Amino acid sequence: MSSASRNHQPATIAVTAGRPAREPDRPLNEPITMASTYVATGGVEYGRYGNPTWSAFEDVLGSLEGGRALAFSSGMAAVTTVLDLVGHDGLVVAPVHAYTGTLLQLADLESRGRVHTLLVDITDTDAVVAAAADAALVWLESPTNPALELADIATIAAAAREAGAYVVVDNTFATPILQRPLTMGADLVVHSVTKYLAGHSDVLMGAIVAGDEELYTVLKGRRDLMGSTPGTLEAWLALRGLRTLHLRVERAQANAAELVRRLEGHPAVAEVRYPGFGGIVAIVVAGGADTADLLTRSTSLWVHATSLGGVESTFERRRRWKAEPATIPDGLVRLSVGIEDVDDLWDDLRAALDDLG
Ligand SMILES: *Cc1c(COP(=O)(O)O)cnc(C)c1O
Repeated sequence: MSSASRNHQPATIAVTAGRPAREPDRPLNEPITMASTYVATGGVEYGRYGNPTWSAFEDVLGSLEGGRALAFSSGMAAVTTVLDLVGHDGLVVAPVHAYTGTLLQLADLESRGRVHTLLVDITDTDAVVAAAADAALVWLESPTNPALELADIATIAAAAREAGAYVVVDNTFATPILQRPLTMGADLVVHSVTKYLAGHSDVLMGAIVAGDEELYTVLKGRRDLMGSTPGTLEAWLALRGLRTLHLRVERAQANAAELVRRLEGHPAVAEVRYPGFGGIVAIVVAGGADTADLLTRSTSLWVHATSLGGVESTFERRRRWKAEPATIPDGLVRLSVGIEDVDDLWDDLRAALDDLG
């Protein structure tokens, strides 16, 4: 399997990494290898320990993030595997507005006496650095979901590593096209591959990327034993999705920036939140929860659906989920901007906003 040169740009890596060797009559694409076992005495042996289709996906993602990737059955399987690095009674510092599944997992671990959790305002760098002094693991998300706050990853990572804590960045929102946390001092990157990396709303998958060989080996060992491995078809679909990641992210970001400009002037929108990059935008609808719910029922292009990072534009009122923190405004609608024509997207959204009165 070819490995992308470190000197290549992300667009080149996305297209060229994870390909079979260039030999006569070899396919250009890694095939879907359906196998539960392999002829003995090779490097893999059994289907839970490895698969060539996973490896091709891992080769591309690892090259994009600048580390070694491991594919998992879902983003939450990756999150859970990383949290399992924390020893008994260890302290996990995490953002108040982290992904709800991560917050629920932390609350569950805490309720069973496995870990302690300290939730912090990720924009308050001094407070996060102070909290990191006693931490076993510092969990970062930047931008956060769905508040879209930004963390000073480099400063926090330097302080946390100095204190002996693992530094993990959930890079699902930014993708390695816009942010490479391992180059900013993080030990590990986590992805819900389900979102931008696969990108077509048809796959559940996750990944961890390790910055060093030792952590990679530990986490590979955890995956082998926990069996939280991806399906082979899923890995192949995610690999196919990665080939256009840079184009999809560029287009979604350009659409998002244009929609932010237009949304800011609309009287039905009380607040627009956008971190300045990426394809996720949050708006606070002036009329509150009921008006926001009406908006999500009133469009023809925008799909009312959870999740994000697909080619199609989706949106939802986040507080419709019970687990969403009360610090998120009732009328906040998270928009996952897709790659459609931006004028069509605006016309559809504006008509629905106009009708809110
Ligand atoms: C969706 C998501 C997850 C969980 O991933 P799944 O693939 O749904 O298990 C974790 N972190 C973030 C930021 C997410 O958006």
